[in-house]
Amino acid sequence: THFGFRDVPVEQKQKLVAEVFSSVAGKYDLMNDLMSLGIHRVWKRYFVATAQVRPGDRVLDLAGGTGDIAALLKDRVGDTGELVLGDINGAMLRVGRDRMTDRGNVRGFEYVQCNAEKLPFPDASFDLVTIAFGLRNVTDKAAALREMHRVLKVGGQARVLEFSEVTADWFKPIYDFHSFKILPKLGSLFAGDAGSYQYLAESIRKHPPQAELKGMMEAAGFARCGFRNLSAGIVAIHTGYRV
Ligand code: SAM
Repeated sequence: THFGFRDVPVEQKQKLVAEVFSSVAGKYDLMNDLMSLGIHRVWKRYFVATAQVRPGDRVLDLAGGTGDIAALLKDRVGDTGELVLGDINGAMLRVGRDRMTDRGNVRGFEYVQCNAEKLPFPDASFDLVTIAFGLRNVTDKAAALREMHRVLKVGGQARVLEFSEVTADWFKPIYDFHSFKILPKLGSLFAGDAGSYQYLAESIRKHPPQAELKGMMEAAGFARCGFRNLSAGIVAIHTGYRV
């Protein structure tokens, strides 16, 4: 376990993030349900339902992990659409591919092990690029946002779903208690791993809040950037366009 790796150097951080996700890959879905009381499913549905996407589109889901977003997006792009799941972690991608295959989702899916900071795709190759609960883990977020912009076609949309800053004052102490007391307990009880969930709470607090992330998207070249808070800012959806 690795408590409090707040100030570790960049190369070490990347390695630690890899360890966190390799260690939780098998329990990842169960833990999401437990930690959020199932609400992450609602956030993900909303994220996909409001995406700018049409049948036949080619979509990249970055940090796609176990495939929740890709499975939902498949319904929107239909049989003629294509979904590329990109993730830096082979263990998460394998869980994703197995789950997708179990659900009968085979045609139109591609799995690519890649770092969001340096994408192995040509310019202008996707109609939509999504990243859900992933940007927080990326070391060089500015680079990842520039890459998302680069691989989008003109007119295409980028969408970021991520934990953000809680806006309701009364809720903050409850949220902190949940993050720092309950989460690590759930982690050790159900995943045998308190450290990874300690990391989760810390990474959420360090992630740029709503307005700052919007500014970062603008700096990466996106136009018409905006965000929408869900559940009082526990998470936010940021959008931007390539024009
Ligand atoms: N999008 C999925 C979801 O919403 O359930 C998975 C989110 S999971 C919390 C974060 C994922 O980000 C992990 O699968 C991890 O391997 C991946 N990840 C972390 N750093 C990354 C990077 N630099 N590039 C690509 N993926 C990365």
